[in-house]
Amino acid sequence: MKILVVEDEHKTGDYLRQGLAESGFLTELASNGVDGLHQALTGDFDLLVLDVMLPGLNGWQVLERLRQGGKQMPVLFLTARDQIEDRVKGLELGADDYLVKPFAFSELLARVRTLLRRGKSSIEPTVLRAADLELDLLRRRVTRAGSRIDLTAKEFALLELLLRRQGEVLPRSMIASQVWDMNFDSDTNVIDVAIRRLRAKVDDAFTPRLIRTARGMGYVLEVPGA
Ligand code: CA
Repeated sequence: MKILVVEDEHKTGDYLRQGLAESGFLTELASNGVDGLHQALTGDFDLLVLDVMLPGLNGWQVLERLRQGGKQMPVLFLTARDQIEDRVKGLELGADDYLVKPFAFSELLARVRTLLRRGKSSIEPTVLRAADLELDLLRRRVTRAGSRIDLTAKEFALLELLLRRQGEVLPRSMIASQVWDMNFDSDTNVIDVAIRRLRAKVDDAFTPRLIRTARGMGYVLEVPGA
């Protein structure tokens, strides 16, 4: 699942981005309201973490325009302790939850998971499947043939991407930008190594094999014959 963090304090923004990425979410960061709104309108995000006091457009304005633009993804507001009225205003405008700074990361993560569960319940499946491989987006769990498989955060994000785009050949450059948040063509070895590790966990001991190399192009996850 993909989360956009809009936060102008670099320290907080980096901290949130890193923490969410380590928890297995694809995460992007915007450092002002204008960029944040643009990214939220054009990107495919499942949730926004939105600071209230932002340069450019403030958090309420971003939320208002987002809803006007037809985007209904859940929004978690971040407010300072002395902005109690902001919370009321944010909730009236359609924010889904708020968190008062400073907060513990575990608290933010719990809110994020609750909002994603609520936001997704009737719209999209929260379990991705291929043959007997299952990836549970909310519980962050992967099983194959019913056995639990432990993946790193990057492996989880990589498998999620492959499962979401099942049957499509994904170029290494695309995988690099989506999973590693990097635009590189030079060191695609990182991806090959990660795929090899992922295969060792989810494919090598099972039939059928699901992750296929499309020589010279990239990788594809598909159920043979499906
Ligand atoms: Ca701020």
